[in-house]
This record gives sequence, C-alpha cells and structure tokens, in this order.
Amino acid sequence: MLRGALRASSRSEAPLLSVSVCGPLTASAVAAACGFWTRVCSRWSRGSAASGCRTSGRSHFSWRRMRTMTDDRGVPSRTEVGSAAAFGVATPAEAQQCGPPGKGRVESSADRAAGNMAAVATTQAQIEKVQPLRLKNGKYWNPWSSWTGLPTLVDFIKLWWNERGKWIYTDEIPEEYERHLPVKTPDLEVLCTAPKPGVLRSTWLGHSTVLVQFEQGFTVITDPVFSERCSPVQWFGVKRYRPAPCTAAQLPHIDAVLISHNHYDHLDLLSVRAIETKFSPAFYVPQGLKSWLVKNVPGLDSQRVHELGWWEETFQRKNDKEFKIVFTPAQHWGSRALLDNCRALWGSWVVAGPTKKFFFAGDSGYCPVFTSVGALYGPFDLSAIPIGAYEPHYFFRQQHVNPEEAVQMHVDLRSRRSLGIHWGTFKLTMEHYMEPRERMLSASGKAGLEKNAFFTLTHGEHLDVE
Ligand SMILES: [Zn+2]
Repeated sequence: MLRGALRASSRSEAPLLSVSVCGPLTASAVAAACGFWTRVCSRWSRGSAASGCRTSGRSHFSWRRMRTMTDDRGVPSRTEVGSAAAFGVATPAEAQQCGPPGKGRVESSADRAAGNMAAVATTQAQIEKVQPLRLKNGKYWNPWSSWTGLPTLVDFIKLWWNERGKWIYTDEIPEEYERHLPVKTPDLEVLCTAPKPGVLRSTWLGHSTVLVQFEQGFTVITDPVFSERCSPVQWFGVKRYRPAPCTAAQLPHIDAVLISHNHYDHLDLLSVRAIETKFSPAFYVPQGLKSWLVKNVPGLDSQRVHELGWWEETFQRKNDKEFKIVFTPAQHWGSRALLDNCRALWGSWVVAGPTKKFFFAGDSGYCPVFTSVGALYGPFDLSAIPIGAYEPHYFFRQQHVNPEEAVQMHVDLRSRRSLGIHWGTFKLTMEHYMEPRERMLSASGKAGLEKNAFFTLTHGEHLDVE
C-alpha cells in the first residue's frame, strides 16, 4: 500500500522528501506511518483545542466583514468594509428564512424543483459557521464528531486482514473501459463561446476536474489534474485508467482555478503550471497553500493567489460583472509529503455569479456542514459532488462520501442539479469502477429526486444547465 518513499525528480516539485500520496488509499497509507503518533498527539492536545479553538472560532465570527475586489485577472484592486447584507450574504436570520423546508418554514416551488422534500429541518444552530480546530502543533483538524482522526497502523492492519484476497484490481476488465467510460475530445468550438443567457455550462474532464462557464463569460476550473499519474513523479504512482480528454493548454480561457486541498489527485503541479503559463488566472486555495504554490509555480504573481479560511469570501470581476467566491468547509485532510499532513486546510467552494450559483465539494466525508452551506448560499444551480473512492466504507467514510451520502449532500445543499465527480479516472479504492454511478442513480431514485437531477457526464462531455 505504501507506494514508496521517493526523491522527487527535476520535473517534480520541491521539497525533496516526497511520498506517493496519490489518493485516499495511498495517502492513508502514508498517514498510517504517522497517524498513530498524530492520534496520540491530538488526544493529548484535544482538550485545549476543543475548548479553545473551537469555542473561539465560533464566538469570534462577525457579520461585518472585509471584501477584496479583484479585477478581471484576479488581482486585488480595492478593499471595502461593509455589512453582510450589503454584500448579498444572508445573515443567520435571513438564511433561516430561505433555508431548506423544515421548522418554521414553508416549502417553496424552488425547493420542490431542487428535490428538497427530504431535507432536514435547519435550526439556527446548524447555520453557524463552524471553524476548523487547530491542534497545538499547528495542524488543522475537522471539528465534527463524525471525524475521529486519521487511520492508524492498527486500522491498516485490520483493513489488510478484512480485505485480504479481494484487492482492488481483481474484478475489472480493462478492455471494457472504452465501452463503459468513453473519452470524448471536448467540443472546443462550443467551449470557446460563453453559454447562452440563463445557462451554466459544465464540462467533466475526469476525476474532480470540472470546467464551469457562466453566461457572463467567467470560466472556472476545479482541481485541475491532466497528468498521467497523481503522484510526486510521473514514472511512479497511481496511473489513470482513462486518459485526460484534452490538455490544459487546449482549454478555453480560464479566469479562476479552485483548489480544494493538496492531495495529489486534486492538486497536480504540472497542470497548475501549464494553466498558469497559458492563462495567468486567479488561484483560490485553502489556508496554508499560498506560499507553497507561489514557490512551486514559476512566474506566478502572488497577488493572483487568494488564500482563504472556511467561510471567507472574495470577489472577482469579469465583463463588469461580479462573482463572489467563498471557501466553505469539508470533512477531509491534506498531505503532500510524509510529515506534512493537515498543515494546510481543505474545503469546498461556492461561486455565486449574477444569475447562477455553483458549488464544488472537493473531497469530503459526510458531515452536517453541508446543510449550513445550502442554507447560507444555496440553492445551487449546479453542484459538483464526489461519488467515488469509498470502499471499504468503514475505512473511508470519514474522508469520502459514498453515493448514498452524495445524494444526501445534494439534498442538504439545496442543489437543483448535481454532477457526480471523483470517479472513473484513478483507481484509489476497492469498489468496481462503475459502481459509483449505478449506486448514485439508485439512491437518487429512492430519495425521490427528479430524473437527471443528479447526473454524470462522460469524460470530455459538457452539459448546459438552465
Ligand atoms: Zn483528498
């Protein structure tokens, strides 16, 4: 499982001590090496972290905030201070008014359209903006009881014992990949024009990479990964079983890059470098990643890199229109080397344009926070929600949702349409490669969602969502 400790080649990133942390299984394998120690340390420090950081994180929140305006290239142009309402952000009371159907709230036709019949009641307490814990060693930590820590060596021994004889490549026939998961060259002629008014266009480029185009011409890409392997080097590590549908340089102009966290299957340095070289976009990254990105991407202007903590927001303009970009929580973790786990934050992103709202979940286990995100920023016209890399679920449930939980996220978020991501590209866990899609469709039916409310695309395919 431990893919090996490697020295980075000249093509790969600094620093030198790198381990093939390509995905949850291998990443978790690395975590096992230090997970036991992490758990010991976290238990030792949890008392102060939970009573200090958690409490202060909640009580210090202010609805009065700074907002940084950026120009079309994502460079800050001015800073303003104002109330949340002035920036179009719902206050807790307002959010309660527009929250999911439940206590004290009448279901609207929009709720029905979003398939929110099963949404749970949203209370004021659920809408609070929970902050990550900070351990005494500076590491970030998920604040929910659904997170009990990184896998330990004992967990890995149990995994090996329980799953022996049914390892991950056993039941798949590579010749059938083309039939089940065709890869199309994206229709670049279409993608080079802005969507029609009232339309939000999404193109799935494999795994968690989605090109999202707003009618105003604003174009965002999520966790761009075009490399052959999600690994520190391109000669070793987890290799994609479906090719990238195009190169980064072939894409239409990109205004903004959203990075959810620093695992190799989400933050690919070669792809980021290629996008920077071709488009010089704005980069939006979690706390703790900016200096690393600036250091490792030649020519990247630090003014175009926006590092945000949970619930922080910024704005970018395009063609005189304003797009609000908010970093929202997720239950996950991060690591790029043997000893740096949880040094940088992880999360999800909201992009709210003048007419359409998009949510990118990144990587996450199921936790209650998505109800708050949906209440504060939803309903979303489109969400990109992970559906793969979950088996065995008893081992991965803290960091990756399974398809049934993904459907519940769709409901919690008040999403009108959701695109299944984080599947069909890299073999990271033990489920059959087509199972995520089948189980997501089945769970959508059982939850009473409208047909195609939750959907998947083939590699390179785009869909206009109205
Ligand atoms: Zn991850």
